[in-house]
Amino acid sequence: MPESLFTKIIDKKIPAKIAYEDEKYIAIHDINPQAPVHLLVIPKRLIATLNDLQASDAELVGGLFLVAGKLMKQMGQSDYRTVFNCGAEAGQSVFHIHLHVLAGRPMQWPPG
Ligand code: AMP
Repeated sequence: MPESLFTKIIDKKIPAKIAYEDEKYIAIHDINPQAPVHLLVIPKRLIATLNDLQASDAELVGGLFLVAGKLMKQMGQSDYRTVFNCGAEAGQSVFHIHLHVLAGRPMQWPPG
């Protein structure tokens, strides 16, 4: 089975602060938060980048936003930013797709 940093977290081989988990997804607190709230919502099935998505992954990827919305509601956050980095030049460092969810401070645009 191919592994990533996040599959090691999913398999509990590496510790992480888990915010949510079900059979398809895990959400963890980012180790290097860029906002007072910075979660990563991750599908348990390893897909390396957005460029690797198949049409059949649409429901799985859409579900990342439903998990994000549920967690933000639970945390009392109505305003938040969601980000996917795709590829090293765009800032992707872990090649297992994950939705960044940032909240708790005003956000600037454009991002760096
Ligand atoms: P990206 O650069 O978009 O691939 O995002 C990867 C994110 O994973 C970064 O924001 C890192 O801070 C975060 N990260 C790296 N290692 C860990 C870890 N062990 N636990 C939680 N977050 C991590």
